[in-house]
Amino acid sequence: MSLPPRSLATAALDTHGRRTHTCGALRREHVGREVVLKGWVDTRRDLGGVIFIDLRDRYGLTQIVFSPQDDPEAHELGNTLRNEFVVSVRGIVAPRSEETVNPKLPTGEVEVRVHELIILNPAEPTPFPVSAHEEKRRLANEDLRLRYRYLDLRRPDLQNNLMLRHRLYQATRRFFDRHDFVEVETPVLMKSTPEGARDYLVPSRLYPGKFYALPQSPQTYKQILMVAGFDRYFQIVKCFRDEDLRADRQPEFTQIDVEITFATEEMVFELIEGLMKDVWKLTRGIDIETPFPRMTYDEAVRTYGSDKPDTRFGLKLHDLSAVFEGSGFRVFDDVLAREGRIVALRVPGYGDKGRGYMDRLDKDIVRKRIGAGGLIYFRLPSEGSQTLSSVKEHVLPPAYVDAAVEAVGARPGDLVLVLAGADPKVFEQMGTLRLHMARELDLIPEGNDGPWHFLWVTDFPLLEWDEDERRYVARHHPFTSPRSEDLDAMFDDPGATKARAYDLVLNGFEIGGGSIRIHNREVQSQMFRLLGIDEEEAEHRFGFLLDAFRYGAPPHGGIALGVDRIAMILTGGASLREVIAFPKTQSAQDLMVQSPDTVDPHQLEELHIRVTPPEEE
Ligand code: ASP
Repeated sequence: MSLPPRSLATAALDTHGRRTHTCGALRREHVGREVVLKGWVDTRRDLGGVIFIDLRDRYGLTQIVFSPQDDPEAHELGNTLRNEFVVSVRGIVAPRSEETVNPKLPTGEVEVRVHELIILNPAEPTPFPVSAHEEKRRLANEDLRLRYRYLDLRRPDLQNNLMLRHRLYQATRRFFDRHDFVEVETPVLMKSTPEGARDYLVPSRLYPGKFYALPQSPQTYKQILMVAGFDRYFQIVKCFRDEDLRADRQPEFTQIDVEITFATEEMVFELIEGLMKDVWKLTRGIDIETPFPRMTYDEAVRTYGSDKPDTRFGLKLHDLSAVFEGSGFRVFDDVLAREGRIVALRVPGYGDKGRGYMDRLDKDIVRKRIGAGGLIYFRLPSEGSQTLSSVKEHVLPPAYVDAAVEAVGARPGDLVLVLAGADPKVFEQMGTLRLHMARELDLIPEGNDGPWHFLWVTDFPLLEWDEDERRYVARHHPFTSPRSEDLDAMFDDPGATKARAYDLVLNGFEIGGGSIRIHNREVQSQMFRLLGIDEEEAEHRFGFLLDAFRYGAPPHGGIALGVDRIAMILTGGASLREVIAFPKTQSAQDLMVQSPDTVDPHQLEELHIRVTPPEEE
């Protein structure tokens, strides 16, 4: 057996044994003690032959000092230290002089005068500066940080985020345990559960041509657990959805998944409000108020133009369809004839905006970004009493403009924006414009100091018309129960059927969603039929569930909450990537391990997979 080279052997030899303290622990009361600290070299200063180093670990920073008077040998070796070297030091805790006390650091009253140094591992110059000192960090571009994620994760901000996430897990587990829930793991290699995205598939070696699917959610398993009598289930679980990525999505994400037997909406709401209360208290020390307000889906869309309204500010929408009835203005008449709607937004203080601003708003935001046909507006200058309409008087008579201005409660100095279009699309477009204006008006609080506007959105439509597939698709998933009063009419007017589904919204983000489920085999089969899934396919894909419903399936319901989103909001982060240890980029890659990646041809052969080269663009 060959011995390792000498330098390796020495480096591995840590004769100091255990550390006595972390780098965040030492205080004035430790003065005079001999201590052993271990950590990373954060910053280094040489002053008159004395070397000062901030030693870092996840607990904090401690200043360690090498002086030729204290120990010439340690000082000499100390001279070789560079940023991010990992070291072990033995030394004596000493008070700092009055003028060198650092009030910003908890350890700032003391330093450790080193008499023994072991370099546990040197480090090459890092691709970007790493430091616990705010002012010494320059944030490198994100791709570089993701590639060297282990360096980026040394930043206190990211460490704090992951610590918060840890507390969130613990609060959740304690909460559910207290409420008699059972944590059950469900398979990762499973069969497709439709949650509206593409599946990630895993080929089977033993069954050529067959595939497992990674869970988009453990929906069917948790329902089966209810049939099995588990009564109350929860799991902190990874879910996978192969979606075209948007800014606030990750292909794999974490949910707090919950299911309750004999559930009602009220039971779910009360439970989750209690959980949120604990989470906010235990992660941030904040008391939030419960119960949360509720709003139906229809009201949310009509009032805020969104099914996840940010209710931290007003700027509510006004439906002016009745006001413009019979106005003779062709654009409005046409829309109303097609059962569309005319929707307005009052923007306080914008009545003096000039043509240039209005033209840009129309072109860049309304048409380009929002995709609406065009903007109509009425300006009420702060001086004078005349309302200036973007539509000429002979086209839209002033009486209608005045009625609109009155209906939205506009005063001199206000601007009234109007969009006309199909229902409910025009509300959603105005909802996007509302958010744009709110940003301009600085109405959206930034950071993570609240306020916390939780909201239950209820009575969602059961189905959604999919124009591409020319059929109805489930708005949540096919296991969601219609409201019982809608059961009979489900087939006559599918689009108008409401579901026993609810979302939990916080400050304009959907942080959870769930429903009371179908537990009756017949209703479930009807639901599949409504979605255009014929009996054979239903049997093939969901036979196990339909079977389970034959043998005493209790009524049940539940919810799933998005851990990454909640953590992002709690930390005030701008992106999900800030609260995930090893996130994917927006184009679904892990830049550190370089995945996805090609595999050995042999592996493909075993899996009976042949890869065809991607078609040339
Ligand atoms: N499985 C659903 C989801 O992932 C949540 C639920 O209905 O409980 O969105």
